[in-house]
Amino acid sequence: LKSPYHGGHLEVIVGPMFSGKSEELIRRVTRAVIARQRVAVFKPALDSRYHTAHVASHAGRSLDAIPVADAAGIRAHLLGEGELLPDPGRTLPDVVGIDEAQFFGPELGPLVLDLAAGGVRVILAGLDLDFRAEPFGCMPDLLARAESVEKLTAICTVCGAPATRSQRLIAGEPARYDDPVVLVGAQEAYEARCRVHHAVYP
Ligand code: ADP
Repeated sequence: LKSPYHGGHLEVIVGPMFSGKSEELIRRVTRAVIARQRVAVFKPALDSRYHTAHVASHAGRSLDAIPVADAAGIRAHLLGEGELLPDPGRTLPDVVGIDEAQFFGPELGPLVLDLAAGGVRVILAGLDLDFRAEPFGCMPDLLARAESVEKLTAICTVCGAPATRSQRLIAGEPARYDDPVVLVGAQEAYEARCRVHHAVYP
């Protein structure tokens, strides 16, 4: 499984919900495991969609993953507390996978650059756009810095066209622009939508 890049590099997989980002991350990491490379996969601890210690796709495939609170948790796990670069005694994995990358803060960028500088193939999967169809947190910076970007599409639940956005529904109605990201006790759902059928109430 030879990389076309010299040394470490960054691959980013983006798209709306249900576009197969987790499936694609699982596919790439599984191939690295078959090639007997050392891999480590991380996910934010807040995503408890399925089992916390797995990356799971909506279609049911899964992969062992280490839940971490934030980017510092990944740094501590791979590089040790407080170190900028790996110490000589510590070996970094060949491949580091990170799912739901949009939930990490701005510290994910510097961490990923350190890992790539340390020779690691970093594979990130995450949402490029939030429910308002606006760039999601740290993702624009990571997309700009990546060697490789794959934009996946889902299927629009209204018309069947390629879906590039995640429609947030609260009690069956499009969410409002200012609705808080976490709504306690609300009937919430997400659907994949094309540009035409994506709606945000003002
Ligand atoms: P993501 O990580 O991007 O949310 P997943 O890899 O978890 O995506 O799930 C992708 C799978 O979701 C597809 O292979 C398909 O089986 C299923 N799926 C459910 N709804 C849709 C949809 N509207 N468009 C495409 N795939 C969908």
